[in-house]
Amino acid sequence: CGIVGYLGKNRDAYPILIKGLKRLEYRGYDSAGVALINEDGDLSVYKTKGKVADLEEFCADKDITGHIGIAHTRWATHGEPSSVNAHPHYSQSKNLAIIHNGIIENYAEIKHNLMEKGVEFQSETDTEVLVQLIDYIQTKKNLSLLMAVQVALHQVIGAYAIALLDKRHPDTIIAARKQSPLVVGIGDGEFFLGSDASPIIEYTDKVVYLDDGNIAVMKLGEELKVVNILNEELSPEVQTVDMN
Ligand code: GLU
Repeated sequence: CGIVGYLGKNRDAYPILIKGLKRLEYRGYDSAGVALINEDGDLSVYKTKGKVADLEEFCADKDITGHIGIAHTRWATHGEPSSVNAHPHYSQSKNLAIIHNGIIENYAEIKHNLMEKGVEFQSETDTEVLVQLIDYIQTKKNLSLLMAVQVALHQVIGAYAIALLDKRHPDTIIAARKQSPLVVGIGDGEFFLGSDASPIIEYTDKVVYLDDGNIAVMKLGEELKVVNILNEELSPEVQTVDMN
């Protein structure tokens, strides 16, 4: 339902993510969660059924340091509202974490195929299928995360806005969309991500509204890169939002 992401050098991700989730609360949701990579390279996922305030309470005694993270408010479509089904979802290797808005229509078939290959699932969501598929393809074919995302999205039918963290690349967020909105905010050496612009505009007025089929690579020290599923490079239109 709601997506927030942050990647920078100096600022802590967690407060920006929580604030962003609160800005998206008006959309309605049943659970909330956050994934962070700390300075030691640990990828942690914290999530709970309930409100963003419940998530904050849950995180009170956790390690919430890190300059990169993604966060989500979920409105359940596949799998009951519960802490296990809340996003983010890890892949089996725990290298990846994903958040997702929308519905993966052919998730049952993909899940069945992955389970036959020995992949174990934690949740009942359609979303977990996507992160497991990406991880499986990446490991099996030894591809970059971006290429694995492209191959995986080729197999997926449905609507999605997704954001991914890979603990082996703590300087990068990959996001993609089809029939579900996603906005990238471009700051000074930092990136923001939102399912709408409301979590972003207090930090930067430079935004890119991603188009259907866009895959965005936000990497520290580099310009925003936008490609499609065929890896053709696109030139994103950077807009300046009127702060009023
Ligand atoms: N279909 C996903 C789920 O049930 C995402 C729902 C949403 O957009 O929040 O977990």
